[in-house]
Amino acid sequence: EVRTRYAPSPTGHLHIGGARTALFSYLWARRNNGSFVVRIEDTDVERNVADAEQKQLDGLKWLGIDWDESVDVGGPHAPYRSMERVDLYQQHLQKLIDAGHAYPCYCTAEELDEERQKQLAEGVAPKYSGRCRHLTEAEREAFRREGRTPSIRFRVPEGRILTIHDEVRGEVRFESDGIGDFIIQRPDGRPTYNFAVVVDDALMEITHVVRAEEHLSNTPRQVLLYEALGFDVPTFAHASLILNPDGKKMSKRDESVIQFIDQYRERGYLPESILNFLVLLGWAPEGDKAEEEIFSKEELINLFSLKRVSKAPAVFDTGKLNWLNNHYIKKSSTERITELAIPHLAKAGRISENPTGDERQWVTRLVGLYQEQLDWVAQIVDLTEVFFREEPVYSDEAKEVLSAEQVPEVIASLIQQLEAFTGELTPDEVKALLKSVQKETGHKGKKLFMPVRCAVTGETHGPDLRETISLLGKEKVLGRLRGFLE
Ligand code: GLU
Repeated sequence: EVRTRYAPSPTGHLHIGGARTALFSYLWARRNNGSFVVRIEDTDVERNVADAEQKQLDGLKWLGIDWDESVDVGGPHAPYRSMERVDLYQQHLQKLIDAGHAYPCYCTAEELDEERQKQLAEGVAPKYSGRCRHLTEAEREAFRREGRTPSIRFRVPEGRILTIHDEVRGEVRFESDGIGDFIIQRPDGRPTYNFAVVVDDALMEITHVVRAEEHLSNTPRQVLLYEALGFDVPTFAHASLILNPDGKKMSKRDESVIQFIDQYRERGYLPESILNFLVLLGWAPEGDKAEEEIFSKEELINLFSLKRVSKAPAVFDTGKLNWLNNHYIKKSSTERITELAIPHLAKAGRISENPTGDERQWVTRLVGLYQEQLDWVAQIVDLTEVFFREEPVYSDEAKEVLSAEQVPEVIASLIQQLEAFTGELTPDEVKALLKSVQKETGHKGKKLFMPVRCAVTGETHGPDLRETISLLGKEKVLGRLRGFLE
């Protein structure tokens, strides 16, 4: 059985990079009818953020990524939070110590730093010298009496070439001599990431470790631990870096790109757009589908393969994301987009918080009028501004149109028609009124519609004029037309 996992540290909300890792991992499990595990790696307690675990899970759920085992649903390998697994790490740590693969290190931070500075000054790559490797029991006892609490280091074997098979990168080689004996347990008894991740992946029977490239350099350490503990080494797949549109490595501090999934959600991006966008950050299907860009989750489950994940960095293309989101917004029901638009319009004070009846109907039509134009739903607020202000703001182009000779006659005629009109001003009724204006004034086509559009909206462009007038309503339109003639 294929078993994959996503193992976020609860240090922040779901990030683009994490979401992509989770998606690749999820798709590979689903593609193989396997299991997907979400494990919380919370051993870096100083960095943990209170609501991060929940936000990570919420973000995944929103994207449509579901899991078989985790902190909320449990599973055969529970618990799924590292800090609840400390006894398991300690058991395995003891095995390593007993077999001579690990030893206590009493060096203080100052001593280690001094050693490091010396190595740097000598121009050698810094690495732990291994000076606690060969302490006698008496020397250890002396340190203990000084009150020092040891960390535990893994004894890295010398002269080994480690070949890691990576589904994305092929064979990657590391020399063990480049790796100093590393800490696997901190003085307070907490494991380090490299140790906990191995124990967890092994005990949870993970077959494929899918994660970000930044962890590639940790992998040889982990492989040594798998060997020393007598565990099978899983298959690795390290997805490439994600670069900003400007080609620089994406960093969480960078503000030029929105980086957190919940921020996209808040702005009115649809989960299927984000999912589609994320998968294209470093993956493309094979063969005749290679040029396609629109994929549903179900299609992806059929098509996805780790072998097609690219080792070249992926560039975050905001234009493409917006194009995708616009595509999915257009495909959605107006009801759905309205549902998403209402909080934005309400927050802007344009409509009530929970519109019902006529207001609800009106909002739905308004959203429908602009649906095709939306790259993200929050844009509805700016796009529909003209419906809510007292008077239109005339653009230069509109002023130009409105300065033409025939305009006052056209507008005056429309005012008359409207004043005489009773009943519901539907788009068809608007059509009929404009027809009457045409008959009365002899102006038609652009000479008729452009001035009307400009006088009513202040713009030369916009969505369907009849629906616009119908939605504005008789009183508002009359007010604007009269205001223009004054
Ligand atoms: N907790 C690690 C992180 O957040 C996951 C590393 C891994 O997948 O092995 O980056």
